[in-house]
Amino acid sequence: MTDVDPHYPAEAETYREKVRAFLAEHLPAGWRGVGALSNDEAREFATEWRTTLYDNGLLAASWPREYGGGGLSPLEQVVLAEEFYKAGVPTGTANDGFGIAMVGNTILRWGTEEQKRHFLPRILSGEDKWCQGYSEPGAGSDLANLGTRAVLDGDEWVIDGQKVWTSSAHLANWIFVLTRTNPDAPKHKGITFLLVPMDQPGVEVRPIKMLTGSSEFNETWFTGARTARDNVVGGVNEGWAVAMTLLGYERGEAAATVPIMFRTELDRLIGLARQTGAAADPRIRQRLASCYAAVEIMRYLGMRTLTRYLAGEHPGPDSSIFKVYWSEYHQVVTELALDILGSSATTPSGRWPTTSFQTDDVGAPNDSASWVGTFFSARAETIYAGTSQIQRNIMGEMVLGLPKEPGVPTGSWKDLQRAAP
Ligand SMILES: Cc1cc2nc3c(=O)[nH]c(=O)nc-3n(C[C@H](O)[C@H](O)[C@H](O)COP(=O)(O)OP(=O)(O)OC[C@H]3O[C@@H](n4cnc5c(N)ncnc54)[C@H](O)[C@@H]3O)c2cc1C
Repeated sequence: MTDVDPHYPAEAETYREKVRAFLAEHLPAGWRGVGALSNDEAREFATEWRTTLYDNGLLAASWPREYGGGGLSPLEQVVLAEEFYKAGVPTGTANDGFGIAMVGNTILRWGTEEQKRHFLPRILSGEDKWCQGYSEPGAGSDLANLGTRAVLDGDEWVIDGQKVWTSSAHLANWIFVLTRTNPDAPKHKGITFLLVPMDQPGVEVRPIKMLTGSSEFNETWFTGARTARDNVVGGVNEGWAVAMTLLGYERGEAAATVPIMFRTELDRLIGLARQTGAAADPRIRQRLASCYAAVEIMRYLGMRTLTRYLAGEHPGPDSSIFKVYWSEYHQVVTELALDILGSSATTPSGRWPTTSFQTDDVGAPNDSASWVGTFFSARAETIYAGTSQIQRNIMGEMVLGLPKEPGVPTGSWKDLQRAAP
């Protein structure tokens, strides 16, 4: 196992200077971060900035150049992500996480040459916008229980079923879908990973209203929806391994940027505590100090993952430890923010966060709406991308070597459905 080495080699600083020069050249004068813009301006800026990144080959920094990527080394990717985060610039728009980080990387790993040449450039150009069709009403933590059926009809797959919690589906024109293609096989063995166009009568997207009042996720219904026979990634009935690659895709950049993100947010909260006078309360000071210690621990957890990533190792269960740590911390710190705001948290005003994921943007004002919106979003963070309980199961089994969960059922998926209460 590689030790934690929180020092970057000298070449990192040379590349850092290049990134800073790029930012200085392309950002408007007086730039303070996308959070300093109004919500409408921020959306507009994100679209323009995406084009700048695309034109300069920095939208998918890790992808090979032949598919339109930046061809950067892991170290350069980490430095780029750090500098972009500190400057408060977006790294893409709403569907890019699904398109670039998830399905794009998965196609690079599992796709045919034809799929790479067809799909990857279209993701980068923005022609194809992706979303993720994994969860179903009966398949969340127990994802392998999924029941959306796909049946071959000549040269096309015909898909019937329902997905749920499909983030940004209302903005997407393609969806990667886990489908049941062999109900007679055990539940992990009859799954196929399909790429499905959404612009067809058989696909219906119904918005779900969130706690924040916005509708960033949806139900997605398939009724006789169709996709080409060749739009399978990784082989028919071989989709489970592909699905896990996508879920386990742990980028080193996140380990470097997440602690910076939470430190930036905490500094803003300390500013709010000073501004409101709450900093004079020793109990608030104690809670702020505890958050400060938590972010420092997070920084070292990130360094451990990063050290392994730069050494070419797989982060393994580190990603579960990191996920539980930051998501549970975020609920604590946003609760503190509401206590600092006091009664003004009940009548939020000012600028709402532009995102429902993690912290508000760099440069965001200390408005009550920013903190209340982030407090709401933090409720979901211990659920999406694997709940805290599931992450703890992984840590128990993989880190502590505890026995596996009891009662894992055997037999075909179809028999399990019959036996279900
Ligand atoms: C904001 C948000 C965005 C999302 N976006 C997407 C998306 O774009 N695409 C997509 O496919 N999905 C998406 N999801 C769905 C997400 O992946 C699931 O919500 C998550 O996997 C949990 O599944 P579930 O909601 O069905 O809860 P369940 O699996 O029903 O879990 C209910 C509770 O039981 C606990 N539990 C379940 N099994 C175990 C066990 N074995 N041991 C211990 N405890 C257990 C869970 O931890 C949880 O507390 C999103 C969710 C959220 C909140």
